[in-house]
Amino acid sequence: MNMFCYQCQETGNRKGCTSEGVCGKSDETANLQDVLIYCLKGLAYCLRQVPAGELTPESGMLVTECLFATVTNTNFDSKRIVEYIHKVLEHKRRLAGAVGRDAAPCATQSEAPATEQALWETKDDGEIYRKSLNISVLDIKDADERSVKETVVYALKGMSAYAYHAGVLGYYDAGLFSFIYEALFSTSIPLPMDQLMELVFKVGQYTFTAMELLDRANSEVYGGPQPVMVDTGVGGRPGILVSGHELRDLEMLLDQSQGMGVDVYTNGEMILAQSLPFFRKYPHFRGNYGNAWWQQTEEFLKFNGPVLVTSNCIVPPEKGYVDRLFTSSVAGYPGVRHIGEIDGKKDFLAIIGLAQRCPPPQDLGERGFMTGFRHQYLESITDDIVNAIKSGKIKRFVVMAGCDGRDQHRSYYTEKALALEEGSVILTAGCAKYRYIKKVTGDIGGIPKVLDAGQCSDSYSIIAFALHLMKVFHADSINDLPVEIDMAWYDQKAIAIFLCLLHLGVKRIKIGPTLPEYINQYILGRLTDRYDISTVYDG
Ligand code: SF4
Repeated sequence: MNMFCYQCQETGNRKGCTSEGVCGKSDETANLQDVLIYCLKGLAYCLRQVPAGELTPESGMLVTECLFATVTNTNFDSKRIVEYIHKVLEHKRRLAGAVGRDAAPCATQSEAPATEQALWETKDDGEIYRKSLNISVLDIKDADERSVKETVVYALKGMSAYAYHAGVLGYYDAGLFSFIYEALFSTSIPLPMDQLMELVFKVGQYTFTAMELLDRANSEVYGGPQPVMVDTGVGGRPGILVSGHELRDLEMLLDQSQGMGVDVYTNGEMILAQSLPFFRKYPHFRGNYGNAWWQQTEEFLKFNGPVLVTSNCIVPPEKGYVDRLFTSSVAGYPGVRHIGEIDGKKDFLAIIGLAQRCPPPQDLGERGFMTGFRHQYLESITDDIVNAIKSGKIKRFVVMAGCDGRDQHRSYYTEKALALEEGSVILTAGCAKYRYIKKVTGDIGGIPKVLDAGQCSDSYSIIAFALHLMKVFHADSINDLPVEIDMAWYDQKAIAIFLCLLHLGVKRIKIGPTLPEYINQYILGRLTDRYDISTVYDG
């Protein structure tokens, strides 16, 4: 075994990736990410000792960026992970100096393993073995304890992605950052199981805070969304394709590429921009190109121009387009050019110059679909929705949001969407929608049968809308509404959202296509007893 990772839905043999990641992550990168998490726990130990009034967003942004970098399909670049490790250690040294002798124990923890090499030692007989640093998940010997602690760590990673995006736009929550430090630290010490389970639900509570913060940041910086028919066609000029969630990078790129003879398209997670008038005002901002993240190798090849990935999901690139692939923000891939930030600015001229020399994109022949049904819009048509429910035209809402992936059992979502009884309205967000959104058409009294909020972080919109309906119908809980939840997961963000739903008391969630491998029988029993959860595929 060179590594161990079981944080995503496609983990090897439904047990764990042990020699390299199914996602393409090398054993070196996986082990360095373990070291980074270990160092973050050491930093968290220190941050807990800083008086709340003296904590700055700088610490929170560093911690959330590092956690985000370890989310599946975000950063495959060992060099960048080592840089993060050094930044964390440097930050901890500075803090330890600032808070004085009380922080002394943390000055020694996490110092040594700043590189992968430092994790391994050669015995006298020549055998190489891993130093006992309590770094890997497998170093937690008790299976139940391991399961609960890893659930917390993975959900913290997902939650941090949202907190980080909000922070990039200047929106922070000191309480949220403090919780992340406390939770990280809690996973590094022995605690009673009941206390650890409470931590699991608290991660759900703070995921709500992070998602609400990001929703507010996006809405206040880029304005309210409007439902829109997404153009999936192509123009005759060269194009730049932008993927990932970082709206600020898209804004900078659009500013710099105005009047340069190129068009800018969105892909995957960037679809949210399609429904924001702020971005649509740019004359060279075009439609959405491509489908779910895992189809990018084929689609990026056909795009013909440069592709900028601003966060997850990036998959190991093919030869045909690797030379025109770029990353920015938290995303990274070895050998792929990274656009860094200097004094708050990013220079995208290399991408624009390359685009000008490329042929226009090849048309994928996809049909368009509606998006932008975020909670602000749904709340504005409350009367229409309530009337449709009261008259029986809308019988129920089926939430089919989350991630897509390569697992063959995901055909379940297409089959389910196509077989829904008349009167069903699908609420969705994230890549899960690509399984059915172009196949389920029509409306119920003017309300589309599929209401797509946008990317996975817009799952908050679905929750906000459900909470709004609760008030309108004077319901005690979301369980009392005609709402059914069938969520698809792949990475750690989806699990954070799942815990958020549990925190809100939502019962009978179906999660699929399989259960996370790190959720063992102990946690499963506790969740099933309390929330009656089930899964699509148990085989
Ligand atoms: Fe394997 Fe998923 Fe971990 Fe990648 S992120 S190494 S596929 S478990």
